[in-house]
Amino acid sequence: MNLLFNINLNSTFSKAIAFSLVGLVGTISLTPNIAQAATVTNTKNVIIMIGDGMGWEMARAAAIQEQINAGNLGNSLIDFYTSGKGSGLAFQELSNYVLSTTYGTTIAPANGTFNTSNSAIAGNNITGEGSVLPGFVFDPTFNPGTTPTGGASNPNSYAVGNLVGYDPVRGGATPWDAAYYGGAIPSGFDKEYIKYSYPDSANTATTLYTGVKSYNSAIGVDIYEQPLDSALKIASEAGKSTGLVTSVPIDHATPGAAAANVNRRNKLDQPYPLLDNILQQELRIFQPTVLLGGGNPASNPLPLQPDVEPPQDFTYITQDTYDYLVANPNSNRYGYQFLESGPNATATLLAAAALIDPNNLGNRLLGLYGAEGQNGNLPINSADGTYQNTGLDMFSLYSSAQAGSPNNITPGIPNPDTVRPLQPGETDEEFIARQLDENPRLKDLTQAALTVLEKDPDGFWLMVEAGDIDWAAHDNNLDNLIGAMSDFNDSVDYVINWIANNGGWEQNLLIVTADHDHYFTLNDNFPELLRTVGAHDLTYSNNTPASAGHFWGSAGSDPANADSLVKYDWGTHSNRPVPVYFQGNGSEVLLNSVGQGYDAYGNAIPGIPGLVDQVHTAKTQLQALQTVPEPGSVLGFLAIGFLGLGSKLKQKIK
Ligand SMILES: [Zn+2]
Repeated sequence: MNLLFNINLNSTFSKAIAFSLVGLVGTISLTPNIAQAATVTNTKNVIIMIGDGMGWEMARAAAIQEQINAGNLGNSLIDFYTSGKGSGLAFQELSNYVLSTTYGTTIAPANGTFNTSNSAIAGNNITGEGSVLPGFVFDPTFNPGTTPTGGASNPNSYAVGNLVGYDPVRGGATPWDAAYYGGAIPSGFDKEYIKYSYPDSANTATTLYTGVKSYNSAIGVDIYEQPLDSALKIASEAGKSTGLVTSVPIDHATPGAAAANVNRRNKLDQPYPLLDNILQQELRIFQPTVLLGGGNPASNPLPLQPDVEPPQDFTYITQDTYDYLVANPNSNRYGYQFLESGPNATATLLAAAALIDPNNLGNRLLGLYGAEGQNGNLPINSADGTYQNTGLDMFSLYSSAQAGSPNNITPGIPNPDTVRPLQPGETDEEFIARQLDENPRLKDLTQAALTVLEKDPDGFWLMVEAGDIDWAAHDNNLDNLIGAMSDFNDSVDYVINWIANNGGWEQNLLIVTADHDHYFTLNDNFPELLRTVGAHDLTYSNNTPASAGHFWGSAGSDPANADSLVKYDWGTHSNRPVPVYFQGNGSEVLLNSVGQGYDAYGNAIPGIPGLVDQVHTAKTQLQALQTVPEPGSVLGFLAIGFLGLGSKLKQKIK
């Protein structure tokens, strides 16, 4: 359990609130046990697991692989599934399933171009500083735009308001809409529509944790760059332990939005004592009990030069922060025990987790990992489960297949990275084995997190992210995609088993979802090709949609389009709704949200029949984390009138 320092250095308003709370708590802290004994939360443990970029089709590709592994010999999609929840993956066994919209905001400076990455604050600035765009008033009208990043300078019928929205007529009512699969194109449907104004992982994560719509690149802030209360912060204030686990860097957008209030996602880290960045806020302000993931400086795509030390890349952690932690792993200004990549990493991590007691203030665990040669993420799995692509750049396939790329030898034929940063005399096999020894897998990080968090009798909030699903999809890399999905699935499976042995669904809420979709389509022959050819060859050769069984973007299914000969067609996100799989205490909040609207900046936003929005996924968590009187407690009834005070008190005294 954390003592959360309720400091916001970026807002005079919040600062005043924080100081007044400190004064308030100080006057009544002589009777600390009343609130502590009298309140609990609606649900003891809340776990959200995010497959970054794991749209419905990405999940289906992995589910088909799992079914093939289990003996399914089907050749066509119909032999597996062509709609709905599907089967083959652990989270597809959860009892509830809905589809969710993921869109964010789009903002234009006066008479300027609408852009999904604009906040309503003018210029580049310190978070919370700067002035509102002249004349800006939030307009809740849907504005899908006409380009990937927004809309034209001259407002047209599609460029009027500040919410992107989702139109089921133009984009399909479901991700499995037949119009994406060679079926008839209904009137009004547009295959390009889901490319426009697509969301990113920062704004979607912000919404998933806070229930507030914001702009691409927003890390836990609203469109005015003001800090929002995340589920992590609210859980901490309720006396719970908290955890962030990811396969990509610990200060990437998805973990960052839970434990930082920063106006730009690229503000990753700065030398101490600067605070307008994600990592320093994670470590010094929000302080999750466990923070485990990638970003280690040794994980770098550059090849190793002979007889020199492995190259280090300080993109995700400054040398200042890293050197300090290495020199002070057990006692430091952050209050974390620090672990990193090294021999026998998983056993070392699990042994450390066993000794961390979250009931002791300041007992926290920080793990910084990443495979050498990749891009700051854990060793990347492949569809065959061998981790055969470990040590190769995660972003070389799609870019090299694009016309105009320096690595493009033959248009449409990729020239991916094949060179690992081997030690002198080391073989590729030895290198991969070493990376697997020196780094845990996502499931191992999840196990370590639960080993710590389960010791807190007040429960916990935990986020687990498979960020490399998104990276594989950006690279149009089917092999890495299915591999990353497999590791995510193993982590979900571990959590489901943990829940069965730790209070069951009565005490736990599990939500498994994506932050956003990618534009990816399976052809009807995909299962047969995956089974007989395998994802590795389908990824690096067979470079037509027909012979690869899949394609990225919108062109592959159009025989009249010359681009249909090229499967590497769209290297980023889409605005299509994503699946949400969930079960446990509090699930009814999300089930009851289907088709419902929500509030955005004081405006009632209409819902879409059959869909929820990520605002509702946040609401479900926040309601589960709401403090209530402990059942049967007399003191609990006395505390009813002091609920808000009680939770603050608890935060102060623990
Ligand atoms: Zn992405």
